[in-house]
Amino acid sequence: RLDDVYAFVDGYIDFLNHCKTERETVAFCEKTLRAHGFGDDPKGKRYLKTLRGKCLFAFRKGTEPMSSGISLVAAHADCPRLDFKQHPFVEEAGFAQGKTHYYGGLRKYQWLSRPLALHGVICRDDGSTVPVCIGEEPGDPLFTIADLLPHLAHDQVTKSIKDAFEGEKLNVILGNRPKDEPEDAKDKAETPVKQAILELLQKKYGVSEEDFITAEIEVVPAGRAGYVGFDRSLVGGYGQDDRICVYTALMALCEAGDSAAKNMALMVWDKEEIGSEGATGASSRFISYCFEDVTRAHEPETPVGHVFLATQALSADVTAGMDPDYQETHEKHNSANLGFGPCFEKYTGSGGKYSASEAHAEYYASVRGVFNRKAIPWQAGELGRVDHGGGGTVALFLAAYGMNVVDCGPALLAMHSPFELSSVVDIYACFEAYRAFYEA
Ligand code: MN
Ligand code: MN
Repeated sequence: RLDDVYAFVDGYIDFLNHCKTERETVAFCEKTLRAHGFGDDPKGKRYLKTLRGKCLFAFRKGTEPMSSGISLVAAHADCPRLDFKQHPFVEEAGFAQGKTHYYGGLRKYQWLSRPLALHGVICRDDGSTVPVCIGEEPGDPLFTIADLLPHLAHDQVTKSIKDAFEGEKLNVILGNRPKDEPEDAKDKAETPVKQAILELLQKKYGVSEEDFITAEIEVVPAGRAGYVGFDRSLVGGYGQDDRICVYTALMALCEAGDSAAKNMALMVWDKEEIGSEGATGASSRFISYCFEDVTRAHEPETPVGHVFLATQALSADVTAGMDPDYQETHEKHNSANLGFGPCFEKYTGSGGKYSASEAHAEYYASVRGVFNRKAIPWQAGELGRVDHGGGGTVALFLAAYGMNVVDCGPALLAMHSPFELSSVVDIYACFEAYRAFYEA
């Protein structure tokens, strides 16, 4: 049984190593779904649709009518990171640097003096696109943001964390060697290191400085995810919020039994970490277009609003696990613990449940019943002490359609850090929980 768990988690670690951006994650999901018979025809029993390569809807037709609704699991594939600005290239004190604007809620100091990799796309004006992934393969160069040495940090250490680490100092070192120029050259380059880097990029990748204006380069932690602890009870790696739910829900959808009665769907969204706005975020119309497509294909007489109202959803996202070093930030009777299975959150939000779409008790109980009947471990908690912070998920965007929805996902330690921790048994329990939800 533990062998099954580790075989599954080996696959998850491999997924984390190959999927460090929303684009890479959606591409992985699409490839996996196609290998499991999902195709482009909404009339088919297994259908998938992507948008801009950044969000994805997958559907499996069950034996029940569309008017009975869909069992939907929704997760997000975007993660906190540093994005290159439109004009990234600068030269200061002999260093070519890439200027960034951080994406999502991150603690800036965690990104300093650690190996970083560049992932993304550079789009030329002729319509061609250059994919980028540098810093992951052996032999690749790495990138980094140099932190201040302690010897010169005497002023900095007396500041609050908020003031001590500035967003405009999150500049990635790209190089240090000036362009080769003759000693007596008349018009010497003002920024010879930056020029040398740009020439290298032109030669090696065929991209100009202007091409970077229309690029999406994400600076992410370089290196591999892996087991943590002598007992290998944990998984450490970047991007587990919320790719842990993407992977477990994807596998659940692919492996749910063919005799299942429920119509099933998986929604993978982008932009959750910055408020779910945008065409590929949860507040967009994309999911309603997808519901319309499958409803029209299978049951044109049923108004799509009826399908929405009958739909049952899990907002599959992570929560904060009890942290051994910061126990005072949790309320121990209502906190999640790593290793105890997926955690339900009846509500999220902060400051008096503000912005929460609270789950209805009747629906919540029905999902609890599904897990109990399959002896799947689960827990119930909320994110931190009252009035000590909080957070949101995509649940409210699903609830806006009138569907039943409850948050359900694993607990992490060091959430939003470059090396988040999850529990091996929780990963497998989430897979089992989502599969049970689909098969119920
Ligand atoms: Mn999340
Ligand atoms: Mn998050």
